[in-house]
Amino acid sequence: MDKKLLTLVVPSYNEEEAIPLFYEEALRVEKELTDIDIEYLFVDDGSRDETMRVVKELNARDPRVHYVSFSRNFGKEAAIYAGLENAAGDYVAILDADLQDPPSLLPEMLEAVEKEGYDCVGSRRVTRKGEPPIRSFFARCFYKLMGKISSSEVVDGARDFQLMNRKVVNAILAMGEYNRFSKGIFGWVGFKKKWLEYENVERAAGETKWSFWKLFVYALDGIVAFSTAPLVIASFMGMLFCLIAFIAIIFIIIKTVIFGDPTSGWPSMVCIIMMVSGIQLLCIGILGQYLAKTYLETKKRPLYLVEEAVLAKDKDIK
Ligand code: UDP
Ligand code: MG
Repeated sequence: MDKKLLTLVVPSYNEEEAIPLFYEEALRVEKELTDIDIEYLFVDDGSRDETMRVVKELNARDPRVHYVSFSRNFGKEAAIYAGLENAAGDYVAILDADLQDPPSLLPEMLEAVEKEGYDCVGSRRVTRKGEPPIRSFFARCFYKLMGKISSSEVVDGARDFQLMNRKVVNAILAMGEYNRFSKGIFGWVGFKKKWLEYENVERAAGETKWSFWKLFVYALDGIVAFSTAPLVIASFMGMLFCLIAFIAIIFIIIKTVIFGDPTSGWPSMVCIIMMVSGIQLLCIGILGQYLAKTYLETKKRPLYLVEEAVLAKDKDIK
């Protein structure tokens, strides 16, 4: 019987230091994966450092190393998509280059998919050791909120690190949306999924690409992509204010009838106008967010552009 093929997709952005460490660790883990062939697929997300040189060196040394290189930085979500699209494997695993997704979990993941009948094995960190506390706090709030308002399951601490079979890969590829929020997409597609838990591992080399601000924008994108709950705020606020206005009108009519009409109260008027117009702007802003996303989707731009690539499928043609 032919051996199955497992593709390791590694999104890499400025990871010249981390990639050699990753490769070494992966080779070590490979010794435990005896009855499967392995393909490495590095997706260079427009790195500005020597990432590409390092990957090409690996490619020259080890023919199982393939790569796709983007024309510029398109973001990790695009890199994941490109990886899944170009992977030749029967199974595909997505791992970060910085060893924060320990390759040592791969044998266990593979066993779950091959022997226990799961389609997909995800991983979640149960600790956030080594992360700034404020970042962990906001991350927790985000997952709680998402859990309440989103149309798909987003698990707290879930990583993009996972191993899946062809069925799941194809399902994810069928979701060609431009605004990609992988954590939501992985939940949305469903299938039988097993979760592995592990303690947070700190970055092996290089530094994180995520500033607090970038994470904040990512969280907002996630909410807009997988929930329409914020749109309800406008209707809800509208109803609430109508009700308040109605009660106030009745109150004023009764007051005028009983006590006459002494003119006063412009400060309170200013406050009310400010508040109501503020809420109106907020609601227009929320609408704008959804409209902007819709606008980008309708352009149907490609998710990424390839500068150069060496892939398994090219070799088949030759
Ligand atoms: N990454 C990418 N494109 C980007 C940012 C990050 O491909 O624009 C890759 C990066 O090289 C790494 C993974 O995504 O392999 C996770 O990035 P990072 O370690 O910076 O994120 P963190 O682990 O801090 O959440
Ligand atoms: Mg990392």
